[in-house]
Amino acid sequence: MKKLFIVANWKSNKTIKDTEKWLHDFDEGFKRKQLSFESKEIIIAPSFTLLEHALYCSSNLKLHIKFAAQNISSFDEGAYTGEVSAKQIKELADYVIVGHSERRKNFGESDDIVNQKIEQSLEYELTPILCVSKLEQVQSSKFKVQSYSSKLKSYDNSMIVAYEPLFAIGSGVPDTPENADIMAQSIKKELGEIPVLYGGSVTSDNVKSFTSMPHIDGVLVGGASLDPLEFLKIIQNA
Ligand code: PEP
Repeated sequence: MKKLFIVANWKSNKTIKDTEKWLHDFDEGFKRKQLSFESKEIIIAPSFTLLEHALYCSSNLKLHIKFAAQNISSFDEGAYTGEVSAKQIKELADYVIVGHSERRKNFGESDDIVNQKIEQSLEYELTPILCVSKLEQVQSSKFKVQSYSSKLKSYDNSMIVAYEPLFAIGSGVPDTPENADIMAQSIKKELGEIPVLYGGSVTSDNVKSFTSMPHIDGVLVGGASLDPLEFLKIIQNA
C-alpha cells in the first residue's frame, strides 16, 4: 500500500480557541469512527500564531498528526523584522508549505525567492511542500533541489511537491484525476521519486479519484479542511 500524505492548509483562518475546538472535534470523530491512519501521514498547516498551542493540544490528545508552517523566511535567522526563520519553525513543525500560489500572486514571491525558501527548509531539515501550478515552476526549482541532493537523501520525506492548478484552488472545480496524474508523473520525471500531491477543491466525495491514481501520493486540502469532520472523511475516503 502506498503511503498517502493528507495536508490541511488552514490559510489565515482560526483563532487559538477555534484550533482547540477543531483538534478536540477531530479527536472525538476519530475515536467514534474507530479510524486508523495506517500508511497515512496527516499534516496540519495552521498560521504561525497557532502552531505552538496546536502542537501542545495535539500531544495531550495523543493525535498522530504532524504540523507544517504555511510559509518560511527566505533568510536565515537575523535582522529580518517580521520574518519567521527555518530554525524557529523547526521547533514546532516538520514540514513547511513553500510557493503557494496565493503567496506568488499576493506577495510577489518569485521563483528565486521560492528557491531560497526551499534552501532554508532543507538546511534545517524541514520538509518543503513545494506548491506548483505548472511544470516550469518545478523546472526552475530543479537546480536548487539537485544541488541539495545529498541532503535530500539524508532524511525521510525530504521534499514533497503539490500540483495545484490555479483554476481549481477554492473554486469548487477540481482538475480531472487523469490530468493531475499526468502532471504528477511529469514532476517525478523532473525531480525523481518524491511524493507528489494534488490540491484544488478536494472534498470527501472526490478525494479517492485522486489518491487512486498511480502517480499521486496524497492531497493538499484548503477549504474542506476547516471542518474537522469533513477533513476526517477525506482521510477516511482517501
Ligand atoms: C489550497 O489553497 O492549497 C487549496 C487546495 O485550496 P482548496 O482546497 O480550497 O481549493
